Amino acid sequence: MLLEVRDLHVEFRTRDGVAKAVNGVSYGVDAGETLAVLGESGSGKSVTAQAIMGILDMPPGRITGGEILFQGRDLLKLKEEERRKIRGAGMAMIFQDALSALNPVLTVGDQLAEMFTVHRGMSRKDARAEAVELMDRVRIPAAKERVRQYPHQFSGGMRQRIMIAMALALEPALVIADEPTTALDVTVQAQVMELLAELQREYRMGLILITHDLGVVADVADRIAVMYAGRIVESAPVHDIYKAPAHPYTSGLLASIPRLDHKGGELYAIKGLPPNLMHIPPGCAFHPRCPMARDVCRTDVPPLYEVSPTRGSACHYWRECLDGVDG
Ligand code: SF4
Repeated sequence: MLLEVRDLHVEFRTRDGVAKAVNGVSYGVDAGETLAVLGESGSGKSVTAQAIMGILDMPPGRITGGEILFQGRDLLKLKEEERRKIRGAGMAMIFQDALSALNPVLTVGDQLAEMFTVHRGMSRKDARAEAVELMDRVRIPAAKERVRQYPHQFSGGMRQRIMIAMALALEPALVIADEPTTALDVTVQAQVMELLAELQREYRMGLILITHDLGVVADVADRIAVMYAGRIVESAPVHDIYKAPAHPYTSGLLASIPRLDHKGGELYAIKGLPPNLMHIPPGCAFHPRCPMARDVCRTDVPPLYEVSPTRGSACHYWRECLDGVDG
């Protein structure tokens, strides 16, 4: 396995108390595979990604347990200098907000070329040529001319393409894309996702796609891990989840996707709010919002039950959920 996260725990110490952001997360991704990590904000999906990349703010963040194995090495045991090397060539991240991730006072060409001069020791001229080629690859029209422009001169979708180009420049084995299309309108969203999926296949990289929107991952993900209150509550091949979810939270996320064939009426929304991570409810953390909750849910934390050899659900009543009984 390219990347394996095992029983990861992350907390944040603040003046008001300890927020338990990640509470025993385990997942893995192989070369050439796309894992979508799904959940509302505060579910721990981005914090887990930051821990993998080694860019977690520590303090206030603290990794209190677990392992992150990348190509067989536990990243948590490496020195910062070794991690920095891996961050350049082994793994890369695509952020949601390209405008703040890119340097506003450097041309996009200079920013792309810097990847090659710094990490590959290329001459400025060769690096510039690589930058143009990369921009072509991510289908930025008139790349030769636009390489001299600044980030603010590009549209949101084009900027996101530049972010993708920067992430892929050194051909990393793993790319983590954190809500890469959230800031874009729907048509551009689809184009950027399509490009990402295409490049992922071409480069055979492992891709972790973090999103709160189940609708955007259907065509690109191989597996889905659904997170809630810092835990994985369902993990399964993408087709299994769309066919029949085995956790009421996943059912709620599926029901909230807008559908073209569903005209009129209100869009479904999961009732209530995600929990305060300083006061995670006892038992199943989802019980205050769950239409299937019973007494045992308020006291007993559900383990990740094995639904099938490739599927797990942290719901005491996953069988009923699979059968479509929703309380
Ligand atoms: Fe709902 Fe209970 Fe399942 Fe939690 S364990 S998701 S509260 S039915």
